[in-house]
Amino acid sequence: MHGHFPNPHPDELLYGVCARLSERANVPSKKGFCESLFGAGSIAVIDLPSRLGFLADQLPLEHLKAEALLQNHTLLPLYLAFLPKARAEKCKQAALGDGGKSLPFLTGIMASKIEQPANLRLCPICADEDKKAYGEPYWHRSHQVAGIATCYRHRIRLVETLIRRGSRLNRHEFQSLPRTWQETDEATTEGERLLATDTHWLLNGNAFEPGLELLKGNYILGLQARHLAHISGRVYVTQLTKQFAERNEAGNLERLGCALSAGQSSSWLVDMIRGRPRCAHPIQHLLLINFLGHTAQTFFEIPVREQKRPYWEAPSPKKETKQKRIDQNLLARLWVARRISLREISRRLGVDPMTVKRHAARAGLRFPRKGVRLTWKKPPDPRHLFTRLLFHQRRWETALEEPEPHGLRKRIPSTYSYLFRFDRKWLDQHRPPLPEPKPRKSRVDWQARDRELVENIREIILRAPRPSTRGKLLAELGIGNMLRRNPGELKRTREEIQKSMLHPLSYSASEKDRRGYKSRAKLVRGDLKDSRMAQD
Ligand SMILES: [Zn+2]
Repeated sequence: MHGHFPNPHPDELLYGVCARLSERANVPSKKGFCESLFGAGSIAVIDLPSRLGFLADQLPLEHLKAEALLQNHTLLPLYLAFLPKARAEKCKQAALGDGGKSLPFLTGIMASKIEQPANLRLCPICADEDKKAYGEPYWHRSHQVAGIATCYRHRIRLVETLIRRGSRLNRHEFQSLPRTWQETDEATTEGERLLATDTHWLLNGNAFEPGLELLKGNYILGLQARHLAHISGRVYVTQLTKQFAERNEAGNLERLGCALSAGQSSSWLVDMIRGRPRCAHPIQHLLLINFLGHTAQTFFEIPVREQKRPYWEAPSPKKETKQKRIDQNLLARLWVARRISLREISRRLGVDPMTVKRHAARAGLRFPRKGVRLTWKKPPDPRHLFTRLLFHQRRWETALEEPEPHGLRKRIPSTYSYLFRFDRKWLDQHRPPLPEPKPRKSRVDWQARDRELVENIREIILRAPRPSTRGKLLAELGIGNMLRRNPGELKRTREEIQKSMLHPLSYSASEKDRRGYKSRAKLVRGDLKDSRMAQD
């Protein structure tokens, strides 16, 4: 049916190929066209299309196999490079079959914080060059990757077109490049250009699927070379986070949605290299690869080079002179033998204890090693323990019979601690009787306080001679509770209060005589007397 299906160009999106076909064929129904290519109920997908098997069956061309379409004209190869092998296989099956809806989950796009570009993008220079070379411009898939802002070939900023991705309105429509676009002359950074080159390299003709374990192993090796990981594989996270943030241009990580801050114990970066390897976005992997001083190409060729070396080939002579050869099997056996100390292992292997540790770490043996330590003591003989216990019990009992049995713990501390440790129950049953509680000495000098309160009462009455209520007086003194609780100790205070309540005026007068100054009460009374006398 689709005998005139166009030949795809290098790095062209499958979406773009369909767009060119749609333009040529001048289809009346967009939905009908879409379903004729991908089957009933399909939509136009830009980066991760599915039902590729269905499409390949519609095409007569021998070379357009479904797998080739997947590898060369979708964005899936980029994700496959950084997925566990089993999951990568699932992704491929989903893309070849009817698993389009599961692809964003399987690839980890849904879980990632890296923002998908909202519109389709193009490079103006690429568009011009493609027109000259192929007669028409086309959509490059390397330009549509999330987090990529520059053209891999021309190192200029990509142009956003007005064609929205994932819009419901044109979900059956394959759209070609627009005739015009907004030119931009925004500068690009070195980091952005590196990412663009790497994604393009990964997408085009490099079907690497090393699996996460191998990737992580190579990350750790790279970090060890930069003194950012221990030989045992433990990563120095704080140092790494700091250096990583410094290496990237200011704002670059935030723009990508990969922000890191110092003092974070968990981040996307830590998740990638600590514990069981976890999935991360391709951009995050590429950032780490660039940090380790690699490009995607040099990094992905590490495992390939090592795989290619035949197993019988001797390791390079440089390595040979550097490390002593030791019997790995013997080391592994001795390492797990709990009764043999590290020093003993080093003696048997004829190397330094540190060398033993280094070899053990390289061989992936367990750290910390569970074995005897030199400081470890032999447990005492139980019979010996029993005689000692008896001895201390006798000693304690003799001490208890002394006329003053208190303070035994200080007098015979060794016996006390021995019994406390080995026969606490017995010790608790043989404690000296508690001393009689001493009568508590009052901390308050009640006599002085009583005297003081009497003075206070007299002063209050002198200031305000009008007969006050008992409650007001007590409130002013601030002793309501004190008087109620200690009636015996504050005898004089109680009497003074009663006196002041009964005869305020006479009380004031007598007070004046005693203190040698004239009270206001006296003055008032005197004035009254004077005026009364004058009236008479
Ligand atoms: Zn370009």
